[in-house]
Amino acid sequence: MTIKYQDLSIPKRILLGPGPSNISPRISNAMSQNMVGHLDPVFLAIMEEVQEMLRSVFMTENRFTIPISGTGSAGMESALVNTIEKGDPVLVCVNGVFGTRMCDIVERCGGVLKRIDAEWGRPIDAELVRQTLEDFPARIVAVVHAETSTGVLQPLEELSRIVHEHGSLLIVDAVTSLGGTEVKIDDWGIDVCYSGTQKCLSCPPGLAPITFSAGAIEKLRNRKEAVQSWYLDMTMLEKYWGPERVYHHTAPISMIYALRESLRLVLEEGLQKRWKRHRKYHNDLVSGLEKLGLSMLVEEKYRTPMLNSVIIPETADDASVRQQLLNEYNIEIGSGLGPLKGKIWRIGLMGHSCTKENVDLILFALNKLL
Ligand SMILES: *Cc1c(COP(=O)(O)O)cnc(C)c1O
Repeated sequence: MTIKYQDLSIPKRILLGPGPSNISPRISNAMSQNMVGHLDPVFLAIMEEVQEMLRSVFMTENRFTIPISGTGSAGMESALVNTIEKGDPVLVCVNGVFGTRMCDIVERCGGVLKRIDAEWGRPIDAELVRQTLEDFPARIVAVVHAETSTGVLQPLEELSRIVHEHGSLLIVDAVTSLGGTEVKIDDWGIDVCYSGTQKCLSCPPGLAPITFSAGAIEKLRNRKEAVQSWYLDMTMLEKYWGPERVYHHTAPISMIYALRESLRLVLEEGLQKRWKRHRKYHNDLVSGLEKLGLSMLVEEKYRTPMLNSVIIPETADDASVRQQLLNEYNIEIGSGLGPLKGKIWRIGLMGHSCTKENVDLILFALNKLL
């Protein structure tokens, strides 16, 4: 029978937004490999390799390091639902969209929420965290490392020291930072860290790598009530990803192939080299934008290399510039969110998208359009 739905034909976009980023043909190839059962020995070996490579990329010895089935937001939800019990005091640092989402989840878990805010585009002041913890003995402190809605990179080392001096656990959102800049779980003493595959790991959206420290696992083991979410319950997931191989849910096989390939690409390049590449093209992009007379939202020392927020000049129309970029150049960039809607553009240089050609192209296109 003939049906009205045609074969898929997707244009080749240059993805310079807040994610997803472009993927290497090696990943598309990995995804089209044969399907096997999720308990097939071939697949079990792949699960092992993925966990090993994730530990290298997170720079951790944490045994409990797995990809959650779901996008970055599933990583966020797992980090919070597994560590929070009803009545736990939780401090969330908010300086953009993703911090506000964590607040929402904390309340849904029955945590007692306290939030500290910084202006969007500014980092969280570690001293304010210290003062707040004096009066509010949080069991958990949560913070976003690279705030994709603003382009701020949060310094974590001092913050982590303060959190641990107060006997709290530190949860870090590294959805955008992992694979694009330093994320050092063990050196920095991060207790739970989650990421996403679609940003600097340059894999399609669909998995959320996560890692738990010994301290976080102890909190999980001492829970009085079961984890609110059945699907994201680490006490069951660890039995599936660990040596017992107890069926919990069917791992998204082809996505795991993709993640394996993307982690191989990260490790082949080398973490240091990869961070350097992101920093270099970020610097080139910023100096090019400044030559066009544009200015950045975030102060130089707090900028994320992989997400560049540019102030929209008064003479330009936000939506029509983005539309022309898409229609005439096949380039996607991001718009501003919340209070920054209409005020900034967000230009991502993530993973496979972070190249000299893409920097030159977006500068050329913006020069023409503005
Ligand atoms: C993109 C992003 C998320 C959410 O990831 P999804 O893959 O869209 O679910 C969470 N936190 C940060 C900082 C992000 O950039």
